Amino acid sequence: MLRIIVETVSPVHLSYSPSVGTFSPTLDYIPGSVIRGVLAKWYDENISSTSEFNKVFFHERTFFSSLTPTGGYKRSKVIPKTAYSCKYKPGFMKNGSHGVYDMLYDFLDKDKQTIKDTCGHDNNCNASIIPISGYYAGTSKYESIEVRKRIEMKTSINSEVNTISSSNLYQLEFIEEQQKFSGFINFSKKDLETAFFNKLSKNKLILRIGSKTSSGNGKIILSELEKYEPQKLAEQEERLESLQKIIRENFNNKYLQPDETIFTITLQSDTILLDKRLNYKNNISPTDLAYYVHPKLIDSTPNLTNSNDPQIAFSSSKIIGGWNHLWGTPKKNANIIEAGSVFIFKIKTNRKDLIKWFTKAENEGIGERRAEGFGEILFCDEFHLRNIGGG
Ligand SMILES: [Zn+2]
Repeated sequence: MLRIIVETVSPVHLSYSPSVGTFSPTLDYIPGSVIRGVLAKWYDENISSTSEFNKVFFHERTFFSSLTPTGGYKRSKVIPKTAYSCKYKPGFMKNGSHGVYDMLYDFLDKDKQTIKDTCGHDNNCNASIIPISGYYAGTSKYESIEVRKRIEMKTSINSEVNTISSSNLYQLEFIEEQQKFSGFINFSKKDLETAFFNKLSKNKLILRIGSKTSSGNGKIILSELEKYEPQKLAEQEERLESLQKIIRENFNNKYLQPDETIFTITLQSDTILLDKRLNYKNNISPTDLAYYVHPKLIDSTPNLTNSNDPQIAFSSSKIIGGWNHLWGTPKKNANIIEAGSVFIFKIKTNRKDLIKWFTKAENEGIGERRAEGFGEILFCDEFHLRNIGGG
């Protein structure tokens, strides 16, 4: 597996589709599709081997992950949608804020009479708590990883006379210069990884991404490309076992029989799932797990209480578009399940198998258009194991 780190050299504006109105916000990460697109363009212009190009960029199991802001760490993670924080002073305690609470277990407990709804920091903050989003990283304590952004005022061009149309002002948001973003590329074959690494690690490539590149924006430098080993099975096992322990301790075995295993899936990038009729989906069901991860997962259940309650999920979805840099054409619109969404399942199966299946899924992603970075997942995200009491 390769870790890729890029640094913004000039302001970068990224969006999935043209904005409506006069303000166009930027994404605060670099989608895998963008990195794959510009690297494919470079490869196409500089490497003569067509077969190698096709294998690297069109192999269905090559995964270009999203690049998230590093904030000085190897890589940051997406804050799950179960995370809540003080309305008055939102953020992690390490940042001097009132802490981020994982509400997963509060939401799971159907019998709980009162759910935490006020901050309670230092026993004297009565502000309510609200969902918090963004990125975090950290070893012993978590901290927010922010992306520095700025807004620039632009004028549009009057196409009839080809001059500035002073009455048509619009605002464009940019990711500022000198910020690093990192992610990974997982090749299905070692020889492809080696070929790719040998070509790209020798050059400090300067690439252009996003919009307004003709006016000097969107310049990034490929600052690091390094080989690394993905997480070991033992780490996945430790996370899975910790989750069982927390659930058993918190719920006195009321939702979990001794032969059952609970697991969570937290989306680290936007994810595209299709049903049998090729319709876009807004959630992850056992059928999807069976199709995209392992057939035996059809036996899993997304309902902890064995009642007719709706599926337990904390998710949201939206429609996205996009632009194909290699072909210079717009991409088809798609409905995505947003990064940060959390899904909970339980199953009666051998835990060793479960760990094996999901370790593979963590490296290869789930769902459609994985080569573009869609479908990155975390199995039993550490966040749900460490942030229960807030941090
Ligand atoms: Zn507070």
